[in-house]
Order: sequence, then C-alpha cells, then structure tokens
Amino acid sequence: MIIKNGLVFSENNTFEPLTITTKKDLICQVSGGSANADAADEIFDAADCYVIPGLTDIHFHGCDGHDFCDGTTEAFDAIGAFELKQGVTTICPATMTLSEEMLSGICKNAAAYHKAQENGEGRRDVSDLIGIHMEGPFINAHKKGAQNESYVQEPSAQKLRRWQQDAEGLVRLVSLAPEVPGALSCIEECRDEFRFSIAHTESDYDTAMSAFAAGADHVTHLYNAMPPFTHRAPGVIGAASDTPKTFVELICDGVHIAPSVVRATFRLFGDDRVILISDSMEATGKPDGIYSLGGLEVHVKGNHATLADGTLAGSATPLYQCMLTAVSMGIPLESAVKASTINPCRSIGMDSLYGSIREGKKAHFLVLNQKDLSIRAIIKGQQCF
Ligand SMILES: [Zn+2]
Repeated sequence: MIIKNGLVFSENNTFEPLTITTKKDLICQVSGGSANADAADEIFDAADCYVIPGLTDIHFHGCDGHDFCDGTTEAFDAIGAFELKQGVTTICPATMTLSEEMLSGICKNAAAYHKAQENGEGRRDVSDLIGIHMEGPFINAHKKGAQNESYVQEPSAQKLRRWQQDAEGLVRLVSLAPEVPGALSCIEECRDEFRFSIAHTESDYDTAMSAFAAGADHVTHLYNAMPPFTHRAPGVIGAASDTPKTFVELICDGVHIAPSVVRATFRLFGDDRVILISDSMEATGKPDGIYSLGGLEVHVKGNHATLADGTLAGSATPLYQCMLTAVSMGIPLESAVKASTINPCRSIGMDSLYGSIREGKKAHFLVLNQKDLSIRAIIKGQQCF
C-alpha cells in the first residue's frame, strides 16, 4: 500500500509531507518524494489529513461489554475489535486485583491468544495484543480505588514468575505499591524480568525514590489512588519528577484530572515521559447503566464510572477520545500523539516494532481529518477500516 499526500507524524515528532510504502504488515519506506508504485499497490490518498501511528493503550480493563479479566477468546476478540475501530491498533490490557488462580488462567489464555495472532490465526479485524499489564494484586488496600480488597496479596517474586510462565513472557508491566512489605525486594529481585510501576499507594517521597532506585520506572495513573503533591510532602509525584527516566500515566478523560493539572503535568515531565491511558472498563461504548469491574458493581453515566460510594472506577472513554481531550485542554497535538503512541510503546519495551512511523515497524496508522481530527481511516497492515 502507498499512503500519499498526507501530513505524516515523523520520527522528528513533527508533521511532514511524506509518502509511506508498506508491504504486508510492515512499513518498508518513508520518503519525501513520490514512491515507485507497483501496478499491484493499493493507493491511499491522505490529502487534507494527518497520518499518525496507530494508538497503543497500555492501561485499560475492557470495553463493549467485555472485561479483559473474563479471560476468554470471545472477550479478547470483542475488546480487540472495539479498540481497533477506535484507532487503538495495539493493546496491553490490565488485569485487576484477583486471586492467584484467576490471574493464572487469564495469563494462560492471553498467551494462547497472542500466539495465535502471531501465527496469523483468528480474527484479523482486531488490535494486536502485545502485552499484559498486571494492575495488582500487590497494592495497598487503603488505596484500592475500584480494586477488590479481598484479593490483595503481598508482593512475591515467585507468584510473578509463575504468572509470567503462564503468560509465556507476555507480562510487560507490573503495578504495585512500594510501601507494602516485600515490595522493594520484589522489585529489586525481578528488575531484569519485569517493568514495575508505582500504583494504588500511600507511598511517601522517600519510599517512591527507593522503588525507583530498586528498578521501578513508571507511575500508574498519576494523581489517582496516591497521596497528592504538596509543598512539604511531594510523594510519588515529586519522586517521579526527580527521576528522569520515569514514565507517568495520565487518565485524560475530562473526569479524572482537571485541565490545569494535565497542562502542568506535561510541563513538569515533558512530552517524552507522559503516557495517555484510557483506564476504560467494560461499559465503554455501551449505554449508561450498571456494569462490573473486578467483581464490583459500577454505575456508569455519560463518561463517569463510579462505585456505589462515588469512588471513580476506571473510565468510559476510549484512548482516541482521551487524546482529543488533551488537545482540547491546550496540549499541542504533537505532544498528545507522542503520549498515545511512542511513549507507551517505549515504556513497555515494544518500540522496536510499534509506536512510530519508521521503516521496519508495523504498518499501523490512524488517518485524521486535519480540520477537526475526526477519524478518516484506520489502517492495519493491508486492511483499511
Ligand atoms: Zn487503577
């Protein structure tokens, strides 16, 4: 396929008039001139459009009435199909705080699904499942948010390794609370096997700094389910800003974080380190009503998803909408695109194949109308939606 006449989001993080040539599911050329078209090549005219990499969501639980923790092929297919239609071509969904056995089963089924995808089997009209984000069960029960307290467990390298074995290496990110007993030693022991993220925590600044020194390099939904950033108690947020390699996730759905704080976060961390996530749950894409998340009842009205006591329980907004919300709050489009594409891929070590428009990477694109950023087309390999 040849994609021409568009403004392409390049490796320089700017929009440039480039022509993209793809073969099967890979990009084979990105050039300033016109491409040598074979008669067999399909041409996509992207005039008046931006061409950006397909989005990657590394933290969401479900959508379209299904939860990743359902752990079935039917759920994975439904989630992948919905996400792809929303421009999210690559997914690393999150598990919840569940029992060891339940997590084990999800890991096994996700691994089988991933393997089938790699072999070109199964449905084609779905996003690529490239990882699992284990959000819990090693969290602080006092900051559980919408996680189920009865399944909270003490950090254990042995359990992590068992899940990773079940997942055949697909676990790319582990979210835990560094202040709970055993967390720091678990990070230190497994730092070369997993990426660790600080989450659902009461950690102070010093404990967070110890976690980063032990090997953590990521913060899960910054601001949510953690102590605030205050002038005498900077907490996890201050520690992350003092640790240059750290990535921070933001739920930019217009509900979880005020616009001023979104802008301040991009200023504080720079657009290389912010990752937009949806944290979406199964009601995303469905009408208002009562749904479930990790076994808890969630009430959904518009883009608010809450437990009965009003605690926010994930979002009901897909990542593409979160990216547009960031732009509407004053974040430059280039920064919002980085935060939804290359940054998440880099943070889970998948950027050699995904997340930017470069020769040798996956041919996953989102074609947006320049005038209003609406989706004109979603391209995944030879398929165009
Ligand atoms: Zn969470």
